[in-house]
This record gives sequence, structure tokens and C-alpha cells, in this order.
Amino acid sequence: MSVKKYSKKKDSAKKLSKNFSVSEFACKDGSDEILIDNKLVSFLQKIRDWAGNSVLITSAYRNPVYNSKIGGASNSYHTKGQAADIVVKGKKPIEVARFAQSINVKGIGCYNDDLFVHIDTRPTKFYWYNQSCTPTDTFLQSKYKTGNYSVKADVLNIRTGASRSFSCKKFSQLTSDAQKQILKIAGYKVNGYVKSMICTVTQIKDNWGKTPSGWICLDYCQKI
Ligand SMILES: [Zn+2]
Repeated sequence: MSVKKYSKKKDSAKKLSKNFSVSEFACKDGSDEILIDNKLVSFLQKIRDWAGNSVLITSAYRNPVYNSKIGGASNSYHTKGQAADIVVKGKKPIEVARFAQSINVKGIGCYNDDLFVHIDTRPTKFYWYNQSCTPTDTFLQSKYKTGNYSVKADVLNIRTGASRSFSCKKFSQLTSDAQKQILKIAGYKVNGYVKSMICTVTQIKDNWGKTPSGWICLDYCQKI
């Protein structure tokens, strides 16, 4: 990482890469100082080359005063010259986010609601959706589809949400249909789906599927 200081007055026309110039990174309040991380420029150029179309930077450097005025997070990567919000002509935000993930950008915000993508050069991975900042592990499409699955694990936890951080449901919290199936196969009350049970998945999130009783990890199931 190498963040450099530029002057809007002196350096505006200066080329940073094939398709990007200093002026595009300037703070929107018209102030002179501009901070730009050359790693950010390199990511943007890769996105530009992939898209084969214009990449509009709607916001890059923000001085701390301007950043607080527009309600930006106080430690925002924009204030360090390490972030850019972009609109890529001809590409949906999710397509841009997926490409950014593929070139190992660690900070990616996919704003499907506002039709832009935020990228930054933070060192550890954090991906999110929209102003709500909903975290996601990946922007890649799930390899799983909705439908019926047979359980392959001896006991498969059923969780209240689509990740291991959500709590597991108890037998008493499952649907009566699931309880009947479990009792029939296992012969006693188990806190989860049991091997060879059939469950219907109506929603997919990454490698998790939503069943009537809760979320299950589809890595332990077989599509039927
Ligand atoms: Zn941003």
C-alpha cells in the first residue's frame, strides 16, 4: 500500500493509469488536497479493463470535514484515500462485486439499492450489501438450488439463520411434520434432521438452505 498526496490545482490532469487521472479522485467539496492509494488505482484499472467500458468514480477521497458533513463513518477508508464508489457502465453492482472479489479486493460493498459498488484497500476481508451494511461471505452465486434434499449427515443442525453463528433449534422448535419424520427414522427426539430425511428448501443463501423448520447447511445434503 502506498498512499500519495496530490494537489487538485497542480495535478488534476496527471494520469495515474491508462484510464484514470488525479481529478477523478478529488473530494467533492472542491478542496485542493487529494489522497490516493496506488493499490486502489490498480484495482480500478483492472475493473476498467474487465468491463471494457467507462468506470465512473462517484466518490473517492473525502477530507475528514466533508466526510463528517455527509454522514460518512469517521474511520472511513475514503478519508485515507483508499476507497472509491464506482458505477460501471453496462454492469450490475453484483457483477462488479464478483469481479472485485475475483481480483482479491478485500473491502467490497455491493449497493444493489443505490446501483454502485464501494471498493477499498483494507487488509482484511469484509464484504457487505447496501446501506444496511449486511455482511456476506461471498458475492459468488451459490452452487445450490431450491428443491428437495436428502440429509447425508447423521444429525444435521437446524439453525435460526444462514450461518454457523446462528443458534441451533431444539426438537420442540421444529415443525410437527419434521418431528414426525425424525421420530419415525430415529425413534427418539433428536435436535436436528436425521440421515435420509427429506426436506424442502425454498431459499438459498451461499451454501445454506431454508427449510420449514429453519436453515441447514447444504454441504451435508444431497439434492433429489
Ligand atoms: Zn464508499
